[in-house]
Amino acid sequence: MSQNSPQNIVIIGGGLAGASAAAELRDQGYDGAIVLVGAEPHAPYERPPLSKDILLGSATAADAAVKDAEWYEQQRVELITGTEVTGLDTGARTITVDGRAITYDQLLVATGATSRHLPMVDASGAPFAYLRTIEESEALRKNLSGRMLVIGAGWIGLEVASAARQAGGTVTVVEAAAKPLAGPMGEEMSDVFVGLHREHGVDLRTSTTVESIEHGSEGGARASLSDGTEVVADIVLVAIGAVPETALAQAAGLEVDDGVLVDARLRTSDPHVFAAGDVANHDHPTLGRVRIEHWDTAIQQGRHAARSMLGSEEAYTRQPYFFTDQYDLGMEYVGHVGPDGFDEVVIRGDRGSRVLNALWIKDGVVVAGMHTNDWDATDSLRAWLGRSANEKTRDTSISLADSLG
Ligand SMILES: Cc1cc2nc3c(=O)[nH]c(=O)nc-3n(C[C@H](O)[C@H](O)[C@H](O)COP(=O)(O)OP(=O)(O)OC[C@H]3O[C@@H](n4cnc5c(N)ncnc54)[C@H](O)[C@@H]3O)c2cc1C
Repeated sequence: MSQNSPQNIVIIGGGLAGASAAAELRDQGYDGAIVLVGAEPHAPYERPPLSKDILLGSATAADAAVKDAEWYEQQRVELITGTEVTGLDTGARTITVDGRAITYDQLLVATGATSRHLPMVDASGAPFAYLRTIEESEALRKNLSGRMLVIGAGWIGLEVASAARQAGGTVTVVEAAAKPLAGPMGEEMSDVFVGLHREHGVDLRTSTTVESIEHGSEGGARASLSDGTEVVADIVLVAIGAVPETALAQAAGLEVDDGVLVDARLRTSDPHVFAAGDVANHDHPTLGRVRIEHWDTAIQQGRHAARSMLGSEEAYTRQPYFFTDQYDLGMEYVGHVGPDGFDEVVIRGDRGSRVLNALWIKDGVVVAGMHTNDWDATDSLRAWLGRSANEKTRDTSISLADSLG
Protein backbone atom coordinates (compact mmCIF):
# COMPACT_ATOMS: atom_id res chain seq x y z
CA MET A 1 0.00 0.00 0.00
CA SER A 2 2.95 2.33 -0.08
CA GLN A 3 3.16 3.07 -3.79
CA ASN A 4 2.51 6.79 -3.28
CA SER A 5 4.28 7.01 0.10
CA PRO A 6 2.34 10.12 1.14
CA GLN A 7 3.65 12.09 4.11
CA ASN A 8 0.99 14.79 4.28
CA ILE A 9 -2.64 13.86 4.02
CA VAL A 10 -5.27 16.57 4.31
CA ILE A 11 -8.98 15.95 4.78
CA ILE A 12 -11.49 18.72 4.03
CA GLY A 13 -14.73 18.20 5.95
CA GLY A 14 -15.05 17.23 9.59
CA GLY A 15 -18.00 14.89 9.21
CA LEU A 16 -18.35 11.13 9.44
CA ALA A 17 -16.56 10.42 6.15
CA GLY A 18 -13.62 12.64 7.07
CA ALA A 19 -13.21 11.20 10.57
CA SER A 20 -13.57 7.63 9.28
CA ALA A 21 -10.81 8.28 6.75
CA ALA A 22 -8.49 9.63 9.44
CA ALA A 23 -9.12 6.56 11.62
CA GLU A 24 -8.48 4.17 8.75
CA LEU A 25 -5.21 5.89 7.83
CA ARG A 26 -3.88 5.14 11.32
CA ASP A 27 -5.41 1.64 11.34
CA GLN A 28 -3.48 0.97 8.12
CA GLY A 29 -0.24 2.01 9.83
CA TYR A 30 0.16 5.33 8.04
CA ASP A 31 2.53 7.36 10.22
CA GLY A 32 2.66 10.71 8.39
CA ALA A 33 0.79 13.94 9.04
CA ILE A 34 -3.02 14.10 8.98
CA VAL A 35 -4.80 17.45 8.97
CA LEU A 36 -8.60 17.35 9.28
CA VAL A 37 -10.39 20.67 8.70
CA GLY A 38 -14.07 21.13 9.50
CA ALA A 39 -16.26 24.21 9.17
CA GLU A 40 -18.48 23.35 12.12
CA PRO A 41 -17.39 24.33 15.63
CA HIS A 42 -17.37 20.67 16.75
CA ALA A 43 -15.25 17.60 16.34
CA PRO A 44 -16.85 15.19 13.80
CA TYR A 45 -20.21 13.81 14.90
CA GLU A 46 -22.90 11.50 13.58
CA ARG A 47 -26.07 13.04 12.21
CA PRO A 48 -28.69 10.25 12.53
CA PRO A 49 -29.41 11.11 16.21
CA LEU A 50 -30.20 14.71 15.21
CA SER A 51 -33.65 13.61 14.03
CA LYS A 52 -34.04 10.88 16.66
CA ASP A 53 -32.49 10.64 20.16
CA ILE A 54 -30.90 14.10 20.33
CA LEU A 55 -34.09 15.70 19.04
CA LEU A 56 -36.06 13.83 21.67
CA GLY A 57 -33.58 14.79 24.38
CA SER A 58 -32.69 11.17 25.19
CA ALA A 59 -29.12 11.57 23.92
CA THR A 60 -26.68 14.46 24.00
CA ALA A 61 -24.45 15.98 21.37
CA ALA A 62 -21.48 14.31 23.14
CA ASP A 63 -23.08 10.89 22.55
CA ALA A 64 -22.96 11.54 18.80
CA ALA A 65 -19.19 12.25 18.64
CA VAL A 66 -17.43 9.97 16.17
CA LYS A 67 -14.30 9.93 18.38
CA ASP A 68 -13.46 11.30 21.85
CA ALA A 69 -11.60 14.60 21.91
CA GLU A 70 -8.45 12.80 23.19
CA TRP A 71 -8.43 10.43 20.23
CA TYR A 72 -7.32 13.16 17.81
CA GLU A 73 -4.36 14.03 20.02
CA GLN A 74 -3.41 10.42 20.70
CA GLN A 75 -3.57 9.61 16.99
CA ARG A 76 -1.72 12.80 15.98
CA VAL A 77 -4.59 14.05 13.86
CA GLU A 78 -4.44 17.84 13.65
CA LEU A 79 -8.10 18.74 14.01
CA ILE A 80 -9.02 22.27 12.93
CA THR A 81 -12.67 23.04 13.70
CA GLY A 82 -14.86 26.06 13.07
CA THR A 83 -12.80 26.86 10.00
CA GLU A 84 -13.82 26.68 6.38
CA VAL A 85 -11.32 25.71 3.72
CA THR A 86 -11.58 28.62 1.31
CA GLY A 87 -9.16 27.59 -1.41
CA LEU A 88 -7.87 24.50 -3.17
CA ASP A 89 -4.99 24.66 -5.63
CA THR A 90 -4.54 21.23 -7.17
CA GLY A 91 -1.47 22.38 -9.13
CA ALA A 92 0.45 23.55 -6.06
CA ARG A 93 -1.26 20.86 -3.94
CA THR A 94 -2.30 23.29 -1.23
CA ILE A 95 -5.48 24.23 0.56
CA THR A 96 -6.14 27.61 2.12
CA VAL A 97 -7.27 27.78 5.73
CA ASP A 98 -7.53 31.13 7.54
CA GLY A 99 -5.24 32.67 4.92
CA ARG A 100 -2.58 30.00 5.51
CA ALA A 101 -1.60 27.45 2.85
CA ILE A 102 -1.38 23.81 3.93
CA THR A 103 0.42 21.43 1.59
CA TYR A 104 -0.78 17.91 0.83
CA ASP A 105 0.48 14.84 -0.98
CA GLN A 106 -3.00 13.34 -1.02
CA LEU A 107 -6.28 15.11 -0.32
CA LEU A 108 -9.73 13.89 0.64
CA VAL A 109 -12.76 16.03 -0.12
CA ALA A 110 -15.42 15.02 2.43
CA THR A 111 -17.48 18.19 2.45
CA GLY A 112 -20.81 16.38 2.66
CA ALA A 113 -24.06 18.09 1.81
CA THR A 114 -26.26 20.94 3.02
CA SER A 115 -30.01 21.20 3.37
CA ARG A 116 -31.86 22.06 0.17
CA HIS A 117 -33.57 25.40 0.74
CA LEU A 118 -37.06 26.53 -0.14
CA PRO A 119 -36.71 30.26 -0.96
CA MET A 120 -40.45 30.85 -0.49
CA VAL A 121 -40.13 29.82 3.15
CA ASP A 122 -36.79 31.55 3.74
CA ALA A 123 -38.25 34.84 2.51
CA SER A 124 -41.59 34.50 4.33
CA GLY A 125 -40.66 36.01 7.67
CA ALA A 126 -42.41 33.03 9.28
CA PRO A 127 -40.49 30.92 11.83
CA PHE A 128 -38.80 28.10 9.93
CA ALA A 129 -36.11 25.45 10.44
CA TYR A 130 -33.83 23.08 8.57
CA LEU A 131 -32.16 20.06 10.12
CA ARG A 132 -28.55 19.21 9.41
CA THR A 133 -26.50 20.32 12.43
CA ILE A 134 -26.43 19.88 16.20
CA GLU A 135 -27.46 23.52 16.65
CA GLU A 136 -30.46 23.05 14.37
CA SER A 137 -31.51 19.88 16.21
CA GLU A 138 -31.26 21.56 19.60
CA ALA A 139 -33.24 24.56 18.37
CA LEU A 140 -35.93 22.37 16.81
CA ARG A 141 -36.31 20.40 20.06
CA LYS A 142 -37.67 23.56 21.73
CA ASN A 143 -40.56 23.52 19.22
CA LEU A 144 -41.26 19.81 19.33
CA SER A 145 -44.36 19.89 21.48
CA GLY A 146 -46.01 22.79 19.63
CA ARG A 147 -47.67 22.97 16.22
CA MET A 148 -45.31 21.95 13.43
CA LEU A 149 -45.69 22.04 9.68
CA VAL A 150 -43.23 19.70 7.95
CA ILE A 151 -42.63 20.26 4.24
CA GLY A 152 -41.47 17.00 2.67
CA ALA A 153 -42.27 13.41 3.69
CA GLY A 154 -38.77 12.05 3.12
CA TRP A 155 -36.85 10.18 5.80
CA ILE A 156 -35.85 13.25 7.82
CA GLY A 157 -39.29 14.86 7.63
CA LEU A 158 -40.96 11.66 8.79
CA GLU A 159 -38.44 11.06 11.58
CA VAL A 160 -39.05 14.58 12.89
CA ALA A 161 -42.81 14.04 12.62
CA SER A 162 -42.36 10.90 14.73
CA ALA A 163 -40.28 12.74 17.35
CA ALA A 164 -42.76 15.62 17.49
CA ARG A 165 -45.73 13.31 17.99
CA GLN A 166 -43.83 11.46 20.73
CA ALA A 167 -43.24 14.83 22.38
CA GLY A 168 -46.96 15.62 22.20
CA GLY A 169 -46.78 18.02 19.28
CA THR A 170 -49.38 18.63 16.58
CA VAL A 171 -47.91 17.73 13.20
CA THR A 172 -48.99 18.40 9.64
CA VAL A 173 -46.80 16.93 6.90
CA VAL A 174 -47.21 18.21 3.35
CA GLU A 175 -45.84 16.09 0.52
CA ALA A 176 -46.06 16.82 -3.21
CA ALA A 177 -45.88 13.16 -4.27
CA ALA A 178 -48.96 10.95 -4.19
CA LYS A 179 -46.90 8.18 -2.56
CA PRO A 180 -44.08 9.33 -0.29
CA LEU A 181 -40.82 7.37 -0.58
CA ALA A 182 -42.27 5.37 -3.47
CA GLY A 183 -39.15 5.97 -5.60
CA PRO A 184 -36.96 3.50 -3.72
CA MET A 185 -39.78 1.43 -2.17
CA GLY A 186 -42.85 1.29 -4.37
CA GLU A 187 -46.43 2.07 -3.48
CA GLU A 188 -47.11 -0.80 -1.07
CA MET A 189 -44.25 0.01 1.28
CA SER A 190 -45.03 3.71 0.92
CA ASP A 191 -48.51 2.89 2.23
CA VAL A 192 -46.95 1.17 5.27
CA PHE A 193 -45.14 4.38 6.27
CA VAL A 194 -48.11 6.63 5.49
CA GLY A 195 -50.33 4.36 7.61
CA LEU A 196 -47.82 4.38 10.46
CA HIS A 197 -47.82 8.17 10.66
CA ARG A 198 -51.54 8.61 10.28
CA GLU A 199 -52.15 6.05 13.05
CA HIS A 200 -49.89 8.11 15.26
CA GLY A 201 -51.94 11.21 14.64
CA VAL A 202 -49.91 12.97 11.95
CA ASP A 203 -51.99 14.94 9.47
CA LEU A 204 -50.10 13.67 6.43
CA ARG A 205 -51.28 15.32 3.20
CA THR A 206 -50.02 13.72 0.01
CA SER A 207 -50.29 15.22 -3.50
CA THR A 208 -50.25 18.57 -1.72
CA THR A 209 -47.91 21.54 -1.91
CA VAL A 210 -47.46 24.78 -0.02
CA GLU A 211 -48.64 27.62 -2.27
CA SER A 212 -47.74 30.53 -0.04
CA ILE A 213 -46.56 31.13 3.46
CA GLU A 214 -46.56 34.16 5.69
CA HIS A 215 -45.84 35.27 9.20
CA GLY A 216 -49.15 34.79 10.97
CA SER A 217 -50.63 37.55 13.12
CA GLU A 218 -50.28 35.34 16.22
CA GLY A 219 -46.52 35.01 15.73
CA GLY A 220 -46.34 31.66 13.95
CA ALA A 221 -46.58 30.66 10.31
CA ARG A 222 -49.69 30.63 8.17
CA ALA A 223 -49.42 28.41 5.12
CA SER A 224 -51.88 28.13 2.21
CA LEU A 225 -51.89 24.66 0.71
CA SER A 226 -52.79 23.47 -2.78
CA ASP A 227 -55.75 21.53 -1.33
CA GLY A 228 -57.36 24.88 -0.53
CA THR A 229 -56.79 24.71 3.22
CA GLU A 230 -54.65 26.78 5.59
CA VAL A 231 -52.32 25.47 8.26
CA VAL A 232 -51.17 27.54 11.22
CA ALA A 233 -47.97 26.39 12.87
CA ASP A 234 -45.43 27.59 15.43
CA ILE A 235 -42.59 26.35 13.23
CA VAL A 236 -42.16 25.18 9.64
CA LEU A 237 -39.57 22.48 9.05
CA VAL A 238 -38.31 22.33 5.48
CA ALA A 239 -37.13 18.77 4.79
CA ILE A 240 -36.83 18.54 1.02
CA GLY A 241 -33.46 16.87 0.70
CA ALA A 242 -29.83 17.86 0.57
CA VAL A 243 -27.42 19.34 -1.95
CA PRO A 244 -23.81 18.14 -2.25
CA GLU A 245 -21.27 20.72 -1.06
CA THR A 246 -19.19 21.00 -4.24
CA ALA A 247 -18.31 24.72 -4.49
CA LEU A 248 -14.68 24.32 -3.44
CA ALA A 249 -14.07 21.31 -5.67
CA GLN A 250 -15.72 23.00 -8.63
CA ALA A 251 -13.70 26.20 -8.19
CA ALA A 252 -10.57 24.04 -8.12
CA GLY A 253 -11.46 22.55 -11.49
CA LEU A 254 -12.38 19.06 -10.30
CA GLU A 255 -15.09 17.37 -12.35
CA VAL A 256 -18.44 17.89 -10.69
CA ASP A 257 -21.91 16.67 -11.66
CA ASP A 258 -24.36 16.21 -8.78
CA GLY A 259 -21.39 15.72 -6.47
CA VAL A 260 -17.67 15.40 -7.04
CA LEU A 261 -17.16 12.74 -9.70
CA VAL A 262 -14.99 9.86 -8.47
CA ASP A 263 -13.90 6.64 -10.15
CA ALA A 264 -14.41 3.14 -8.78
CA ARG A 265 -11.73 3.60 -6.09
CA LEU A 266 -13.03 7.08 -5.12
CA ARG A 267 -10.39 9.12 -6.93
CA THR A 268 -11.49 12.43 -8.49
CA SER A 269 -10.42 13.80 -11.87
CA ASP A 270 -7.17 14.86 -10.12
CA PRO A 271 -4.91 11.92 -9.25
CA HIS A 272 -4.03 13.34 -5.81
CA VAL A 273 -7.57 14.14 -4.74
CA PHE A 274 -10.21 11.69 -3.52
CA ALA A 275 -13.79 12.19 -2.36
CA ALA A 276 -16.07 10.21 -0.05
CA GLY A 277 -19.48 10.35 1.62
CA ASP A 278 -22.46 12.53 0.70
CA VAL A 279 -20.39 14.70 -1.66
CA ALA A 280 -19.02 11.83 -3.77
CA ASN A 281 -20.69 10.83 -7.01
CA HIS A 282 -19.22 7.36 -7.38
CA ASP A 283 -18.70 5.14 -10.42
CA HIS A 284 -19.84 1.95 -8.66
CA PRO A 285 -18.76 -1.22 -10.50
CA THR A 286 -22.23 -2.78 -10.44
CA LEU A 287 -24.63 0.07 -9.67
CA GLY A 288 -23.31 2.67 -12.13
CA ARG A 289 -23.06 6.31 -11.06
CA VAL A 290 -24.48 6.78 -7.58
CA ARG A 291 -24.30 9.45 -4.90
CA ILE A 292 -25.47 7.94 -1.63
CA GLU A 293 -26.44 10.05 1.38
CA HIS A 294 -26.24 7.36 4.09
CA TRP A 295 -24.43 6.98 7.38
CA ASP A 296 -22.89 3.63 6.42
CA THR A 297 -21.62 4.96 3.08
CA ALA A 298 -19.90 7.88 4.81
CA ILE A 299 -18.04 5.45 7.09
CA GLN A 300 -17.17 2.85 4.48
CA GLN A 301 -16.25 5.27 1.70
CA GLY A 302 -14.20 7.34 4.14
CA ARG A 303 -12.27 4.22 5.09
CA HIS A 304 -11.97 3.06 1.49
CA ALA A 305 -10.69 6.45 0.30
CA ALA A 306 -8.03 6.31 3.02
CA ARG A 307 -6.77 3.00 1.65
CA SER A 308 -6.88 4.40 -1.90
CA MET A 309 -4.81 7.40 -0.79
CA LEU A 310 -2.25 4.91 0.54
CA GLY A 311 -2.08 3.24 -2.87
CA SER A 312 -4.76 0.53 -2.87
CA GLU A 313 -6.17 -0.12 -6.34
CA GLU A 314 -9.30 -1.84 -5.05
CA ALA A 315 -12.71 -0.66 -6.23
CA TYR A 316 -15.40 0.30 -3.71
CA THR A 317 -18.07 -2.34 -4.30
CA ARG A 318 -20.16 -2.21 -1.12
CA GLN A 319 -23.92 -2.11 -1.48
CA PRO A 320 -25.65 0.87 0.17
CA TYR A 321 -27.19 0.34 3.61
CA PHE A 322 -29.69 2.62 5.33
CA PHE A 323 -31.74 2.58 8.52
CA THR A 324 -34.50 4.63 10.09
CA ASP A 325 -36.35 4.63 13.41
CA GLN A 326 -39.86 6.04 13.66
CA TYR A 327 -42.09 5.47 16.73
CA ASP A 328 -41.64 1.77 17.53
CA LEU A 329 -40.71 0.89 13.96
CA GLY A 330 -37.12 0.14 13.01
CA MET A 331 -36.19 -0.36 9.37
CA GLU A 332 -33.07 -1.47 7.53
CA TYR A 333 -32.62 -1.25 3.76
CA VAL A 334 -29.77 -2.76 1.72
CA GLY A 335 -29.05 -2.45 -1.98
CA HIS A 336 -30.12 0.13 -4.50
CA VAL A 337 -33.02 0.71 -6.84
CA GLY A 338 -31.63 2.74 -9.73
CA PRO A 339 -33.31 5.51 -11.73
CA ASP A 340 -35.08 2.92 -13.92
CA GLY A 341 -36.92 1.59 -10.88
CA PHE A 342 -37.82 -2.05 -10.32
CA ASP A 343 -40.11 -4.60 -11.96
CA GLU A 344 -41.62 -6.25 -8.89
CA VAL A 345 -41.50 -6.27 -5.12
CA VAL A 346 -42.05 -9.38 -2.99
CA ILE A 347 -43.33 -8.61 0.50
CA ARG A 348 -43.40 -11.19 3.29
CA GLY A 349 -44.91 -10.77 6.72
CA ASP A 350 -47.79 -9.06 8.41
CA ARG A 351 -48.80 -5.58 7.30
CA GLY A 352 -50.99 -5.14 10.39
CA SER A 353 -48.15 -5.47 12.89
CA ARG A 354 -45.65 -4.12 10.33
CA VAL A 355 -43.25 -7.03 10.85
CA LEU A 356 -42.29 -7.24 7.19
CA ASN A 357 -39.50 -7.88 4.75
CA ALA A 358 -39.33 -7.01 1.08
CA LEU A 359 -37.18 -7.80 -1.93
CA TRP A 360 -37.03 -5.61 -5.03
CA ILE A 361 -36.38 -7.28 -8.38
CA LYS A 362 -35.14 -5.66 -11.57
CA ASP A 363 -34.49 -7.62 -14.78
CA GLY A 364 -34.83 -10.87 -12.84
CA VAL A 365 -32.19 -9.94 -10.24
CA VAL A 366 -32.74 -8.95 -6.60
CA VAL A 367 -31.42 -5.38 -6.35
CA ALA A 368 -32.59 -4.31 -2.87
CA GLY A 369 -34.07 -5.66 0.32
CA MET A 370 -35.63 -4.16 3.40
CA HIS A 371 -37.26 -5.15 6.65
CA THR A 372 -39.40 -3.37 9.20
CA ASN A 373 -39.16 -4.77 12.75
CA ASP A 374 -38.02 -8.12 11.33
CA TRP A 375 -34.46 -8.02 12.63
CA ASP A 376 -33.69 -11.67 11.85
CA ALA A 377 -34.16 -10.88 8.15
CA THR A 378 -31.08 -8.67 7.75
CA ASP A 379 -28.59 -11.42 6.81
CA SER A 380 -31.00 -13.07 4.37
CA LEU A 381 -31.74 -9.75 2.69
CA ARG A 382 -28.03 -9.18 2.17
CA ALA A 383 -27.61 -12.74 0.90
CA TRP A 384 -30.30 -12.18 -1.73
CA LEU A 385 -28.63 -9.09 -3.23
CA GLY A 386 -27.38 -9.71 -6.77
CA ARG A 387 -28.95 -13.17 -7.02
CA SER A 388 -31.39 -14.15 -9.75
CA ALA A 389 -34.95 -14.31 -8.53
CA ASN A 390 -36.64 -17.72 -8.77
CA GLU A 391 -39.87 -19.42 -7.68
CA LYS A 392 -38.76 -19.51 -4.06
CA THR A 393 -38.03 -15.78 -4.09
CA ARG A 394 -41.67 -15.15 -4.90
CA ASP A 395 -43.15 -17.90 -2.69
CA THR A 396 -44.34 -15.87 0.27
CA SER A 397 -45.63 -19.00 2.02
CA ILE A 398 -42.03 -19.86 2.92
CA SER A 399 -39.78 -17.73 5.10
CA LEU A 400 -37.18 -15.40 3.64
CA ALA A 401 -34.38 -17.57 5.05
CA ASP A 402 -35.90 -20.70 3.48
CA SER A 403 -36.32 -18.92 0.16
CA LEU A 404 -32.52 -18.82 -0.11
CA GLY A 405 -32.08 -22.58 0.10
C1 LIG B 1 -30.93 14.82 10.46
C2 LIG B 1 -30.26 13.70 9.72
C3 LIG B 1 -30.60 12.39 10.02
C4 LIG B 1 -29.99 11.33 9.33
N1 LIG B 1 -30.36 10.05 9.64
C5 LIG B 1 -29.80 9.03 8.95
C6 LIG B 1 -30.20 7.69 9.23
O1 LIG B 1 -31.05 7.43 10.07
N2 LIG B 1 -29.60 6.69 8.54
C7 LIG B 1 -28.65 6.94 7.58
O2 LIG B 1 -28.15 5.99 6.97
N3 LIG B 1 -28.25 8.21 7.29
C8 LIG B 1 -28.81 9.25 7.95
N4 LIG B 1 -28.43 10.54 7.67
C9 LIG B 1 -27.43 10.78 6.61
C10 LIG B 1 -26.00 10.75 7.17
O3 LIG B 1 -25.93 11.45 8.37
C11 LIG B 1 -25.06 11.37 6.13
O4 LIG B 1 -25.04 10.51 5.02
C12 LIG B 1 -23.64 11.58 6.67
O5 LIG B 1 -23.65 12.53 7.70
C13 LIG B 1 -22.70 12.02 5.58
O6 LIG B 1 -21.43 12.24 6.13
P1 LIG B 1 -20.33 13.12 5.37
O7 LIG B 1 -19.13 13.11 6.26
O8 LIG B 1 -20.21 12.67 3.97
O9 LIG B 1 -20.94 14.59 5.27
P2 LIG B 1 -21.44 15.66 6.43
O10 LIG B 1 -21.99 14.88 7.54
O11 LIG B 1 -22.28 16.59 5.68
O12 LIG B 1 -20.08 16.32 6.85
C14 LIG B 1 -19.37 17.21 6.02
C15 LIG B 1 -18.71 18.26 6.87
O13 LIG B 1 -17.87 19.02 6.04
C16 LIG B 1 -17.94 20.38 6.42
N5 LIG B 1 -17.52 21.22 5.31
C17 LIG B 1 -18.17 21.47 4.14
N6 LIG B 1 -17.44 22.31 3.38
C18 LIG B 1 -16.32 22.59 4.06
C19 LIG B 1 -15.18 23.41 3.81
N7 LIG B 1 -15.05 24.11 2.65
N8 LIG B 1 -14.22 23.49 4.75
C20 LIG B 1 -14.32 22.79 5.90
N9 LIG B 1 -15.39 22.00 6.20
C21 LIG B 1 -16.36 21.91 5.29
C22 LIG B 1 -19.40 20.55 6.79
O14 LIG B 1 -19.58 21.68 7.61
C23 LIG B 1 -19.68 19.24 7.52
O15 LIG B 1 -19.40 19.35 8.87
C24 LIG B 1 -29.03 11.61 8.33
C25 LIG B 1 -28.70 12.95 8.03
C26 LIG B 1 -29.31 13.99 8.71
C27 LIG B 1 -28.96 15.41 8.36
